[in-house]
Amino acid sequence: MILNDAEKHCEKIGGRFTAPRRAVLSVIIDSDKPIGAYDILKKMPGDVKPPTVYRALEFWEQEGFIHRIGSLNLYTACKAGHRHSGAQFLICDDCGNVTETHTCAIPDICTATAEKNKFKLRGWFLELHGQCHSCQGDLATNVGCAC
Ligand SMILES: [Zn+2]
Ligand SMILES: [Zn+2]
Repeated sequence: MILNDAEKHCEKIGGRFTAPRRAVLSVIIDSDKPIGAYDILKKMPGDVKPPTVYRALEFWEQEGFIHRIGSLNLYTACKAGHRHSGAQFLICDDCGNVTETHTCAIPDICTATAEKNKFKLRGWFLELHGQCHSCQGDLATNVGCAC
């Protein structure tokens, strides 16, 4: 249960599990697709101001409980626990579904490239656009490694 994990995490880091933080996170968890800040605001209980939502989003993103899909400007709950430095997002341009994946080869490749360029790497979040399995209908075939 992500909300329980989040509450425990807040205790551990000495952050407060405030009502708006809790509400923002649960709206994102309950959404079956990535969701934007404006739609999150609309689903918030009570009278909540946009800065409150943005501050909560910033907090959860920083703590790794949600990810921001930059190319869509939408937020999605982390599907892999909140302790990782990168992920790949398979974004369906037809239905808007986003799948979080963790391809094992990516960190090594990115680290090697960063080292070559004397670049200090912080993460390997990648956004891959295309068409999801269900939007491909009967013609769907699995491609590649599913790790
Ligand atoms: Zn994640
Ligand atoms: Zn799709």
